[in-house]
Amino acid sequence: MPLAPLRPLLGRARAEGWALPAFNVANLEVCAAVLDAAEPGGGSRAPIVLQANPGAIRHAGFARLAALLVAAARDAAVPVVVMLDHCADPALHEAAIAAGFSALMADGSRLPFDENVTFTRRIAERGHRAGLAVEGELTAIGGREEGVAASDERTDPDTAARFVEATGVDALAVAVGNAHGDAPSGGRLDLELLARIAAAVPVPLVLHGTSGVPENQLRAAIAAGVAKCNVSSVLYRAFASAIAAGDAGTDPRPLLRGGRAAVADVAAEVIGWCGARGRG
Ligand SMILES: [Zn+2]
Repeated sequence: MPLAPLRPLLGRARAEGWALPAFNVANLEVCAAVLDAAEPGGGSRAPIVLQANPGAIRHAGFARLAALLVAAARDAAVPVVVMLDHCADPALHEAAIAAGFSALMADGSRLPFDENVTFTRRIAERGHRAGLAVEGELTAIGGREEGVAASDERTDPDTAARFVEATGVDALAVAVGNAHGDAPSGGRLDLELLARIAAAVPVPLVLHGTSGVPENQLRAAIAAGVAKCNVSSVLYRAFASAIAAGDAGTDPRPLLRGGRAAVADVAAEVIGWCGARGRG
């Protein structure tokens, strides 16, 4: 089916109290695995986001990764958004629009507030002209993916409201104790702060670093206003474990298929935690 636009799915998710699972994909097997989990054959029938983050683009090359994600989305039996994740490079945003992506994330979180507003507003205006939704980030979330240490810095609700108003973004990534990478942030999400941000900000919130968050915390975060959950590390951990357990011999494809099956199991669990099953 055609690529799904992000904004209506986020609106539905927020109104109905579930979250859109957003999977970071760097190779064919992980891409196939999350679709195995999302499509009706895998039992989920869930709308999902396929994301290209900086690490995946370094791994695969932008043109090859874009072609994979867009083709996979078009071939899918459920609504799939294809999104550029954590991008600070306007030229790469242009490339994503040209490649047929349906959403962008403008990451100016390492810039001072005014420069972040200027950069993010520019990408939001450009994205909207092309019919794409745009997610912004105000406070750097940190952890492995962004190459900076996870910090204790948290999103301030009033500043977040000013940022959303000034930039016109469609969704906001928040820092509420979450962190990218393997470091579990289990039990440390500041749900009270999350609720205050959700009350102050008129757009759906996005939780990055979902891999380290236990199910009860994730469900509480969704109830408090999160409408999209970004997932990466837990997929690659499952893929790596499955491959490391086997012997490639002269044909690695059976091992890769085992990795794909392991990732599909994890993705199906995340889809369930997000409440996205049956929403596609
Ligand atoms: Zn992220």
